[in-house]
Amino acid sequence: MIAITIDKAEVSKIYKSIDKYTHKGIQGHALLIGGSYGKIGSICLSSKAALKTGCGLVTAFIPKCGYDIVQISIPEVMVLTDEKDELISNINFEIIPQAIGIGPGIGQELPTQKAFNEFLKTNISPVVIDADALNILSLNKSWLKLLHPKTILTPHPKELERLIGKWSSDDEKMEKVIAFSKEYDLVIVMKGAPTHIIDGGIVYQNSTGNAALATAGSGDVLTGMITSLLAQSYEPINAAILGVYLHGLTADIALPTTGYQSFIASDIIENIGKAHL
Ligand code: AMP
Ligand code: MG
Repeated sequence: MIAITIDKAEVSKIYKSIDKYTHKGIQGHALLIGGSYGKIGSICLSSKAALKTGCGLVTAFIPKCGYDIVQISIPEVMVLTDEKDELISNINFEIIPQAIGIGPGIGQELPTQKAFNEFLKTNISPVVIDADALNILSLNKSWLKLLHPKTILTPHPKELERLIGKWSSDDEKMEKVIAFSKEYDLVIVMKGAPTHIIDGGIVYQNSTGNAALATAGSGDVLTGMITSLLAQSYEPINAAILGVYLHGLTADIALPTTGYQSFIASDIIENIGKAHL
């Protein structure tokens, strides 16, 4: 298996600069769906990362208990709430986002599983699926058929194992992921050190990032970044490539000031603007 290296030359081919006359209405509206009691921070991280990656508008769809938390911690983000206090039970919104990221902090309670199933039956796309939304898919594998072509899945190794089963070598893991990507026509961001992106038979390997990223909320930030790029009209594979590259590059830039141990996911968000191409 030969992988295409995601480096500065590769991402420069896909990066689009901002038009001088743009305004927030055409910079893309990202919708982040997730959070549950005790895990509202996940959706705060995703939403803020989405804004910092350049989309014009961000809405968070969360359970009621997160309303004050999101509004106070990120005033730039608009908030819609589920009818339930502590979890998501009915994903219902009247806005028209250009991209949706779903899963950070969402939990796996039965009403949330049902709401996710209803969401999958709509024709909304493009979508990034992460975290417990991936675990819900693993519990209900027949729902994979509902995913739209080129939906982006961002599993870490445990989430991946739940989706595709165990592997006994890296080669076998890659074969299984390629087969999975082909079967359902998905873009798989196989997170790790390094992260690989699989789109059918094409495999990309990221060149940025470091062990400081092994910290709580790091993946939630990545989901926000990729959703933001999708909302800005990048094709799914390009949003995944650029998001993964910038996420790692930002960690490389922040590391000399934070060190490995004190680096937290918010350090990625605060430094996204320094990750120039
Ligand atoms: P999550 O487990 O969902 O929070 O995602 C973790 C993120 O951090 C992914 O983007 C991983 O690729 C990245 N990451 C975790 N550990 C490492 C590591 N040791 N080196 C580089 N990147 C890492
Ligand atoms: Mg995660």
